[in-house]
Amino acid sequence: MSSFDYDLFVIGGGSGGVRSARLAAGLGKRVAIAEEYRFGGTCVIRGCVPKKLFVYASQFHEHFEDAAGFGWTVGESSFDWKKLIAAKDIEVARLEGLYRKGLESAGAEIIESRAELTGPHSIRLVKSGKVVTAERIVIAVGGGANPHAALPGHEHCITSNEAFHLEKLPRSIVIAGGGYIAVEFANIFHGLGVDTTLIYRGKEILSRFDHDMRQGLHQAMEAKGIRIICSDLMEKVTKTAAGGLSVETLNNGTLSADQVMLALGRDPYTTGLGLEAAGVAVNERGAIVVDAYSRTNVPGIFALGDVTDRVQLTPVAIHEAMCFIETEFKNNPTSPDHDLIATAVFSQPEIGTVGLSEEQAASRFDEIEVYRAQFRPMKATLSGRAEKTIMKLIVNAADRKVLGAHILGHDAGEMAQLLGITLKAGCTKDDFDRTMAVHPTASEELVTMYSPSYRIRNGERV
Ligand code: FAD
Repeated sequence: MSSFDYDLFVIGGGSGGVRSARLAAGLGKRVAIAEEYRFGGTCVIRGCVPKKLFVYASQFHEHFEDAAGFGWTVGESSFDWKKLIAAKDIEVARLEGLYRKGLESAGAEIIESRAELTGPHSIRLVKSGKVVTAERIVIAVGGGANPHAALPGHEHCITSNEAFHLEKLPRSIVIAGGGYIAVEFANIFHGLGVDTTLIYRGKEILSRFDHDMRQGLHQAMEAKGIRIICSDLMEKVTKTAAGGLSVETLNNGTLSADQVMLALGRDPYTTGLGLEAAGVAVNERGAIVVDAYSRTNVPGIFALGDVTDRVQLTPVAIHEAMCFIETEFKNNPTSPDHDLIATAVFSQPEIGTVGLSEEQAASRFDEIEVYRAQFRPMKATLSGRAEKTIMKLIVNAADRKVLGAHILGHDAGEMAQLLGITLKAGCTKDDFDRTMAVHPTASEELVTMYSPSYRIRNGERV
């Protein structure tokens, strides 16, 4: 019997922490997991899940409009923000309950408290002041929205956290940022009828995505009525006498809005965690430094998920947790595989993507083939909605391997999940070509683009 109180102590009850604790407890280990806020973490409580529910809510007005082209007459419609928040809160609470139940059934001890390290094997439970010990510790505390403390007036702004609980829907909002959270919320608010402006310091939104996706989405959002200001930033936010906010920008004068939302990236949540007491090393961004097996520099202490700043996505945190369990408790050393992660932007239209963008592939391979299709989705023919779907496959000319697949259009996220399997399996363009189409679908385009739209040889388009 070990002299420690626990075989495993997990700090943080989010995606990565819960999975680690549940699996280890299921293996008969003595496990405790501490959570300072709500079980489920960012994803369930104030991230992926409530966000996607908001996305659905924001799409209905277009559905109502589109219905007319199919013969429907839709009566007068109205939207009730408070009802949406209440319904969302019920669903989030249900999921939180499932997370707790999963932990309890597996036999993990649930501790509702902030936990801080006091040494390489010891943790202080802030609520009770009690110090406990563990043979292994997993730090899965996630990240927090960058508050942009250098911005005068940042205290008047909200982040995605508050966006899920606003007392009332603003009439207008300025959102700062060009990442997926900024873009998704711009679409959500606009869809709910809010006058929306997105301001981003870069040249184009969604910096690491394929250029066709970025431009295509930018145009689609502007066509809907979202104002997008690139190559600019907010310099100051002040409260107006009327109770609104005034935003001074560097290049575009003053903007006014009811709310200003900062979506400027997420920082690892390591402040005050006791990392110094335990001797755990962090990088310049405050992220915990780990090796390929999520081991920190201190034997027995591991870190996974957003706090390590590898890839900030829920399935990645879960995968890292599962690899940790395999390695530490199943004697099967497994390091997380961060290659070819399929992902989506739940904008309107959506982006679904996996693998290299055209630019990345062109800089890494001598010659690539780009297969590109742009078309009007079938539903838009009768609805009359002016919208375009873009599909792209990036192929290495040398061995025909598909290096990247990118979609802008309805259900692109769903398609990206399946494309992820094909790229992971190392499929070639010939595999795509000999796959029978599913007709009539949008995705059949992926297996019917027989000749390249263009090639890029040594960085030059030919
Ligand atoms: P978290 O889920 O953040 O969990 C950390 C937990 O630790 C939190 O519950 C926190 O309260 C707790 N905690 C922190 N410090 C302590 C402490 N000292 N003691 C006790 N408890 C502590 N990802 C996707 O894959 N798809 C999406 O569509 C998506 N959308 C998102 C939308 C938004 C608005 C946001 C903010 C994020 C989104 N993400 C999405 C990212 C995803 O939520 C994170 O990648 C994921 O939650 C990371 O899991 P984690 O376990 O590392 O941390």
